[in-house]
Amino acid sequence: MDTNLNRRRFLQTASVALALIPLVVIRPARANTNAPARAQLKYQNTPNNEMSCASCLEFIPGKSAKDLGGCKVIPDDDEIAPNAYCTSWNTM
Ligand code: SF4
Repeated sequence: MDTNLNRRRFLQTASVALALIPLVVIRPARANTNAPARAQLKYQNTPNNEMSCASCLEFIPGKSAKDLGGCKVIPDDDEIAPNAYCTSWNTM
């Protein structure tokens, strides 16, 4: 009797866990922006003359030259535009 109850609980728990796997595995990656760091560095979505993220050593390019990427000085932000600019622009 006790064994049957344990088996039933195990099967119930296992079926719930199996049902949740697709929700965890298939969940799409979320884009992140770091608004405080952007504000501090005066991030803007347009270049400053020839200075843009695409020509900055801190830029972490996306999949293609036009895709959004990251930045070494703005952590937890994967929405950095290649044509954007901030006051930490750097080529050295
Ligand atoms: S430091 Fe500024 S200019 Fe350089 S990639 Fe990061 S956000 Fe763009």
